[in-house]
Amino acid sequence: MAQLDDGGPVNPLSPHAGRGGEPLYDVVVVGGGPAGATAATDLARAGHTVLLLDKPGRIKPCGGAIPPRLIRDFAIPDSLLVAKIRAARMVAPSGKAVDMPVGEGFVGMVDREQFDPWLRARAEQAGAELREAAYEKITRSDEGSARIHFSTGAGESLARHTVRARLVIGADGACSPVGRAEVPGHAKMRQVFAYHEILRVPEAGAPGADSVDAARCDVYYQGRHSPDFYSWIFPHGDRLSIGTGSAKKGFSLRSSIRALRVATNLDGAETIRREGAPLPLKPLKRWDNGRDVLLAGDAAGVVAPASGEGIYYAMLGGRLSAEAAVAFLKTGDAKALAGARKAFMKLHGRVFWILGMMQWVWYRSDGLRERFVSICRDKDVQQLTWDSYMNKELVRAKPAAHARIFFKDLAHLFRWVSP
Ligand SMILES: Cc1cc2nc3c(=O)[nH]c(=O)nc-3n(C[C@H](O)[C@H](O)[C@H](O)COP(=O)(O)OP(=O)(O)OC[C@H]3O[C@@H](n4cnc5c(N)ncnc54)[C@H](O)[C@@H]3O)c2cc1C
Repeated sequence: MAQLDDGGPVNPLSPHAGRGGEPLYDVVVVGGGPAGATAATDLARAGHTVLLLDKPGRIKPCGGAIPPRLIRDFAIPDSLLVAKIRAARMVAPSGKAVDMPVGEGFVGMVDREQFDPWLRARAEQAGAELREAAYEKITRSDEGSARIHFSTGAGESLARHTVRARLVIGADGACSPVGRAEVPGHAKMRQVFAYHEILRVPEAGAPGADSVDAARCDVYYQGRHSPDFYSWIFPHGDRLSIGTGSAKKGFSLRSSIRALRVATNLDGAETIRREGAPLPLKPLKRWDNGRDVLLAGDAAGVVAPASGEGIYYAMLGGRLSAEAAVAFLKTGDAKALAGARKAFMKLHGRVFWILGMMQWVWYRSDGLRERFVSICRDKDVQQLTWDSYMNKELVRAKPAAHARIFFKDLAHLFRWVSP
């Protein structure tokens, strides 16, 4: 694992003694993925007592693509990057491909098997207390602080524990047991299911070796591999992620990947892992319970439509939830918790809306997907796509390019030009 900058973990800040001698933390963060680990790090750095609970034993299924903005804002060391991507290849239903060079810079690739433990170790080093534990429930007595129930160990060594907290941050992923129990509307969250296989990259000259370029992500817009999303091959050094997503009931993601492996000659490559997980489709309308629970990351539904990008948004969500938590802990006013969602939507609400429209318009049929890939040949489209992905900002300085793209989009949509 990549090393943290300076030394090992510091002693965590000790919780206060709460009612009945139970430890009382300022914040219990449930889930130590990108959202929870970031929230815990920021809160500990702000001097708060933090308990970070993370359920052990599972590597998060993920393509691992991260933009430079994330690497900068969250100080990710180069040693965690297993590949640097310089181009994306967009593949249309007909098999026609368009290469989109990144231009300046690169897209980073991380392996979640190393990335997540490193983020948790950083939270610990900042002063959070980290426990491998499974959250079970929250109970409350009258006006008292939340009581968090969790277990450690398994089988004969299973032990149950409780602590108290002034605030609980639920960063426990798309299925979020905290969200489902505590935040209205969570149970109805709309989701895509995404599935991928981690393969060993074939040796040079072996079958399938030509289908993988160590510095290029391949994105397949083909209805046979996903009727409503896309499929991908993302290189990770000597491994790769080949995956797909869909919200269509009855569509077999496994069969789709079997077929994509055959189509790309990767059917004989060694399979290291097969795994899948839900991906939220839309930010929830509420991220807090108006009292003492706040959600962050996938638990709050924060994944970009059309691309499925979630790591950057989870880490930003973690950071904004920590800021809202600091305000809440200072004043005791639960209205401060709504600040996390408000700040997030101000920064990214518009882009999420545009991406949602893109997905709705272009991912509906192979005819539209063919046109979508075709417009990716346009240099203006390429530049705006990369600018907004890499830096997470809409480039306001180029109104003429926006207008050109808008009219080209319309022309393709209404079939005034052939793909
Ligand atoms: C197949 C696939 C490919 C993807 N590819 C990309 C990609 O290339 N780039 C990108 O940006 N995004 C990608 N995403 C999305 C991205 O993985 C998520 O958006 C991101 O991981 C969300 O981070 P999070 O911290 O909110 O949640 P998670 O990463 O899901 O972390 C949740 C944490 O909570 C813990 N937890 C859950 N339940 C409990 C409990 N009861 N008690 C204690 N802990 C608990 C889990 O162990 C986990 O550590 C992909 C997703 C999938 C499924």
